[in-house]
Amino acid sequence: MSRFVIFPIITGIIGAIVADRKGRNWAIWGILCALFPLLLIVVFALPPVLKRGVTKNCPYCGQIIRHGDSKCRHCRRELPIEMVLCPNCKKFVPDKDYCIECHRSLKI
Ligand SMILES: [Zn+2]
Ligand SMILES: [Zn+2]
Repeated sequence: MSRFVIFPIITGIIGAIVADRKGRNWAIWGILCALFPLLLIVVFALPPVLKRGVTKNCPYCGQIIRHGDSKCRHCRRELPIEMVLCPNCKKFVPDKDYCIECHRSLKI
């Protein structure tokens, strides 16, 4: 493969990974970065977005981390398990994708 083919694939993958870590649409940013490699600079400069149910702030270092992570990837500290009220069975259960009591999705 010529490097003219490999280069956009690499910039696309990097753009997708960086966008995904910032809680943004990785598919769109991956394609954009493959087409316009200069957009990588934009992706790196973009502030992370807080998405409800997708990302949250680390209680120790304040950095944005993924919802459901057991460890912060910034400060490497073990995160406390958050308890939420299940909308289906009305029990307090660990904040996961599904309820450990009734096994239904906790995401609305
Ligand atoms: Zn942290
Ligand atoms: Zn439940």
